Amino acid sequence: MSDFKIPYGRQNIQQDDINAVVETLQADFLTQGPKVREFEEKFAAYVGAKYALAVNNATSGLHLSVLAMGLKEGERVITTPITFAASANCVRFAGGEVWFADIDPDTYLLSIESTRKLIESKPKGFFKGIIPVDFAGLPVNLEEFRKLANEHDLWIIEDACHAPGGYFVDSNNQKQYCGNGNYADIGVFSFHPVKHIACGEGGMLTTNSEEVYKKLSLLRTHGITKENMSENHGGWFYEMQELGFNYRLTDFQSALGITQLAKNNDGVIRRNQISDTYKKAFQGKIKFQSLPEGSYNAHHLFVIEVENRKELYDFLRSHNIFAQIHYIPVHTLPYYKEIGYGNADLSNAENYYAKCISLPMFPSLTDKEQEFVIAKVLEFIND
Ligand SMILES: *Cc1c(COP(=O)(O)O)cnc(C)c1O
Repeated sequence: MSDFKIPYGRQNIQQDDINAVVETLQADFLTQGPKVREFEEKFAAYVGAKYALAVNNATSGLHLSVLAMGLKEGERVITTPITFAASANCVRFAGGEVWFADIDPDTYLLSIESTRKLIESKPKGFFKGIIPVDFAGLPVNLEEFRKLANEHDLWIIEDACHAPGGYFVDSNNQKQYCGNGNYADIGVFSFHPVKHIACGEGGMLTTNSEEVYKKLSLLRTHGITKENMSENHGGWFYEMQELGFNYRLTDFQSALGITQLAKNNDGVIRRNQISDTYKKAFQGKIKFQSLPEGSYNAHHLFVIEVENRKELYDFLRSHNIFAQIHYIPVHTLPYYKEIGYGNADLSNAENYYAKCISLPMFPSLTDKEQEFVIAKVLEFIND
């Protein structure tokens, strides 16, 4: 069995994906063309949002999102410490301050209570926005966060990079798919190969606001437009109305995104099968991420908590199982440690980090491979 080599995540590229890219390479557009438009339309329909805008990666997408929300230098935003650094970095790109609230010790998501406590410990207007993260694929209850945000006049950017296809159920018993824009102002997705949909690099922004969508589109292409111009010298004329960027996705990456998106439902179903098998094997023995009533976890990751985490990590590696740690708490990274906004009690995040480990979770993981992973984890635990 030890000739298996099992990563924690892996892309699934098939012949139809390859054909779609090759066809697009032979067509007229390499950078932004008809495939980008098609990908955006299909993605918007998939998550149930009015608008979708493709970008070159989710980090760029997060940057555009905070700018579209109007974030200015010195303004403060709250996010979770248990996320990839980019969820926080986007605030710094705009010169803002990143404040962290703690996580819930069972769902590992940004805690609404901790967020409320932080907000209410400061004067009104102190914070401008919240960036909750659908960590590991588990959707944040954005209805609750929307209520809190409305009380304090805050915007919400949902970092849904882990969660295309996930949903929570709101108080009206409605399924709310990640990134559908019903409660958050903007949803952000990543098409990095370890995520559900692989484009090499790529990202998508979703929103239900036409105004936000237009702002995002303008900023994606240098702030240059031919619409709403103050003057017009002829057919060639354009205006640069804002300081924007080149954050476009290419047409051949979008072609890959389209075929990958079509497989996402099956992929999420398979991820949930894998999760069910892990849970059955670990129930009563090992703590894993809890699932709130009615929620559907898209399972980018399957996270467990163990006492001797480093030993388990090394033990699994010695058997060619490449488990991973998600994440080193962002507030403990040297860059953020040095800035040190506030002195929040983030002990749930720190306790979680001491024990967490992400086991292999990807649709093409075979039953046999998973059995091997489970056997090795249980062997370690029972030792
Ligand atoms: C991967 C990831 C990002 C960044 O995505 P890129 O497309 O690599 O820029 C941001 N936030 C979270 C939670 C992620 O997992």
